[in-house]
Amino acid sequence: MIDFTLTENDEARLAHLYAQGEYIRQFVRDADENEAELPPEVLPGAEDFLKTLERPPAPGPEDTQGPAMMTLSAIAQYWGDYSLRLHREGGGGLGNAALSAAGTDEQKAKWGGLLLSMAITEPGCGSDPSRVETTAVLDEDTDEWVINGEKIFVTTGIRAEGVVLWATIDKSAGRAGIKSFLVEKGTPGFEVPGKEKKLGIRCDDTAAYVFRDCRIPRENLLGLDESIPKQSSGGFRGVMKTFNMTRPMTAAMGLGPAKAALDFTREQLEEAGVDLAYGGGTAQQSAAAQAFMRLEAIYEASELATLRATWLAGTGQPNNMESSVCKAHAGSAVRAITQGCVDILGPMGISREHLLEKWMRDCRITDIYEGTGEIQRLIMARGLLDYTRQDLK
Ligand SMILES: Cc1cc2nc3c(=O)[nH]c(=O)nc-3n(C[C@H](O)[C@H](O)[C@H](O)COP(=O)(O)OP(=O)(O)OC[C@H]3O[C@@H](n4cnc5c(N)ncnc54)[C@H](O)[C@@H]3O)c2cc1C
Repeated sequence: MIDFTLTENDEARLAHLYAQGEYIRQFVRDADENEAELPPEVLPGAEDFLKTLERPPAPGPEDTQGPAMMTLSAIAQYWGDYSLRLHREGGGGLGNAALSAAGTDEQKAKWGGLLLSMAITEPGCGSDPSRVETTAVLDEDTDEWVINGEKIFVTTGIRAEGVVLWATIDKSAGRAGIKSFLVEKGTPGFEVPGKEKKLGIRCDDTAAYVFRDCRIPRENLLGLDESIPKQSSGGFRGVMKTFNMTRPMTAAMGLGPAKAALDFTREQLEEAGVDLAYGGGTAQQSAAAQAFMRLEAIYEASELATLRATWLAGTGQPNNMESSVCKAHAGSAVRAITQGCVDILGPMGISREHLLEKWMRDCRITDIYEGTGEIQRLIMARGLLDYTRQDLK
């Protein structure tokens, strides 16, 4: 039975993250305007501030566990700010979610504490990851993979301590030859030549990576499965499993600022004397209150769809369809919510005096990376109608 009731301990752990989020907000305008890469851990006064916070108790057996708690924690962290998070417990990058989905227990233990980025996209490959050109060739003499290729738009690419990257071990095998590898920063042949300038998430460093004869140990292949299945997509399906974790996390990351926008708008409406209680029925409600409640309902639906997708993953059940559903829903929900809040608040929504306009810009990425909305809807249509990739492209 699905039950998302939070324990007192869960609430305390989340309250800790929300408190960090409040603190971070004093730095985010400056970081956004200067596209600064501020490692959250070294924000001015951060350490002193953390000492003032009561540490939340460790999670107990009755508490919400695994991916469902990761979802709620991501919402809480990104509520503070999309790109400056004070404390990344256990490594909060997209690559960490990939490691969780595809790594062996030993690999998770070895690299789980690092901040990991995830690199799939290349100059010639975005929505269709089966066109990955980066190669990984096994050198049997040294038991090393030799990586060559170029990756672009890598989120947290500069600050990350390592990357989960997709490369083909056999181009002639097509999609079945694609595998994911972990490469630590500092490995010779792994270069970070540049950073993108963007509309939103401007203080989250989005980088390009180049791999030139970059050698990594044989055991850095995530999942350690070197076989190339004969059936056309068997191996590829393995690496695509990564998305079943990263898509719900991407949805949760977008829901953070959407929730922040709702909280801010609610405060402003209440301060202006707008009655948000439903008690009097719709006939008694102001247009602003009705618009606001519609946005809250969209948020609730999106959060529940995301929790369900992560709960399925956490209980070892298939969630391919659900992870696309929550990602597609969140991609448009967070745009509707943040733009709707700007509509309700007018000039206050668009002014740089407040963070709402920034949350609206930051949210936009939810519907782009980890597969655009169009791609999620393709996957959902294939699943619902039982079509293959060939039937429905
Ligand atoms: C800020 C930012 C951060 C990113 N972070 C990462 C990251 O950490 N790691 C990573 O690997 N990548 C990352 N990306 C890349 C992102 O995942 C890709 O941009 C995305 O997958 C789209 O690929 P593309 O840009 O090549 O667009 P294209 O694939 O060229 O698509 C262009 C448009 O065509 C549509 N389209 C494409 N194919 C179809 C189809 N079959 N049917 C209908 N419509 C279609 C798309 O929806 C899109 O609207 C990031 C991108 C941005 C902007």
